[in-house]
Amino acid sequence: MASRNKIENDIDTDVVIVGAGVIGLEMTILLNDLGVKTFTIARHRGTAPAPRAHITNMRTMEIFRDMNIEKVISEVLVPLKDLGSAWIGTSLTGLELGRYSSYGAGDEQFTHYALSSPCKMESTPQNHMEGVMLKRARETAADIRFFTELVSIEQSPDGVLARVRDRGSQVEYRVHACYAVGADAGRSTVAEQLGFGFTGKPGLMSMISSWLEMDLEKYTSSQPACLWWRMQAGNEYWVGSGLLLCIRPWNEWTLQWQYDPTQGEPDTSDEAIIEYARNTLGVHDPDLKFRVKRVTKWQEYSWSSDTQILVQLSTTQLLSLLVYATQYCSMSRRKHPGAFLLHAWLEYKKCRILILDVLQYGKFGLIVGIGGQSWVSAAAKLRRELEVELPVHSIVKRCVYDDVLNEWTGRQEINDYGAQLVRPDRYIAWRCSDRHSDPYQALRSALYSILDRDIL
Ligand SMILES: Cc1cc2nc3c(=O)[nH]c(=O)nc-3n(C[C@H](O)[C@H](O)[C@H](O)COP(=O)(O)OP(=O)(O)OC[C@H]3O[C@@H](n4cnc5c(N)ncnc54)[C@H](O)[C@@H]3O)c2cc1C
Repeated sequence: MASRNKIENDIDTDVVIVGAGVIGLEMTILLNDLGVKTFTIARHRGTAPAPRAHITNMRTMEIFRDMNIEKVISEVLVPLKDLGSAWIGTSLTGLELGRYSSYGAGDEQFTHYALSSPCKMESTPQNHMEGVMLKRARETAADIRFFTELVSIEQSPDGVLARVRDRGSQVEYRVHACYAVGADAGRSTVAEQLGFGFTGKPGLMSMISSWLEMDLEKYTSSQPACLWWRMQAGNEYWVGSGLLLCIRPWNEWTLQWQYDPTQGEPDTSDEAIIEYARNTLGVHDPDLKFRVKRVTKWQEYSWSSDTQILVQLSTTQLLSLLVYATQYCSMSRRKHPGAFLLHAWLEYKKCRILILDVLQYGKFGLIVGIGGQSWVSAAAKLRRELEVELPVHSIVKRCVYDDVLNEWTGRQEINDYGAQLVRPDRYIAWRCSDRHSDPYQALRSALYSILDRDIL
């Protein structure tokens, strides 16, 4: 067992976060915004150096909104509605095999997506996204150290003890924390050292990703698409013929393709990459200039861990935060406990307001209807008893939050006397569809269970 005896240069923190990619930075921002002290390390010198992942779903955009970076992110993104579809063909100059509307850009998808979220699907190249997130993280009290790697991590009697190394100076020091978050991606040292198993398959595909500047306007702008799937007869790999992703219309792209490592490692010189691009895209215009910005080889994994929370967190704040950080956008219209809060526009003091801004991130909230007075009294009693913030929101026509458009009431399965408890991550925690004979006991039992407290 690790000891908590401090030595010089030891760091004491609430949460040690290993990794400063999208997940690590997101955790850093959200935890610091909640007043939780963090210490974040990353073995690389900085954030993602290339566009990598870029399709950003609406729920992620909602999280950016909560982090107050939605506006800055919007300055570096390309709206997916302008890249309306995905295209399949033998080459850019060859036969088009098909096209489909994607990511909510098609007219038939538009309403469905708009009903699910106030935010839009966007294309945010990861290098830009992480740059914005890092700036925002640094505006909090966060301590973030790049070029610093995790050497070891173990459970200590009162938390976690990590040993980390500054890769520049080679100096090692210890970090004492109450909790640890392993945001160190697929080949996680945290998961390995703490014995968390993964299921799935490693090395599903070996890929080359090349980030290129090439002006393809005359081949692509008349049929805007974000993904250009190349399919060539005889190539058995899924993306073997080359998947072209539009980073910035129409001159910044990534071209990805699969290779078989048993046949030897491919040539990744600029000349080889440009030749591959010319051939695979079918563009032989001698005036077309290519610039290779970066080439990366990577492997596709199919990994999942049963234990996403690597060191058990016990405070409500942290637990809700983790679920929040790993959520993804479900387009369903579910409204039972376990589902995400339905999106709706309401009116408050004659101004339009989003339900997302009524049920604020980081706080529980109880939604009641016009006959919800008994729930209001129960919530007041429980606020004092549990010392948790539990605001009550009346949402229905002509109540405090006026459901003028019937967007909320019309889609609910609870009546005027029922109540819905929303978790700090905006998932429905519990609901009572009608009046209850003992609202205090009903709500109390739900809250004690969610907070994992023993009812005395
Ligand atoms: C070339 C490339 C192209 C990609 N293209 C796409 C794409 O087109 N679409 C898509 O959806 N996804 C793509 N991905 C995948 C996408 O980038 C990842 O899913 C995403 O980055 C995962 O985010 P993350 O925060 O979990 O991990 P990462 O972004 O991988 O970050 C991991 C962090 O952990 C740190 N770290 C790792 N080990 C240690 C250690 N021992 N000590 C300290 N720090 C450590 C790293 O320094 C880094 O900061 C691509 C990935 C690559 C590499």
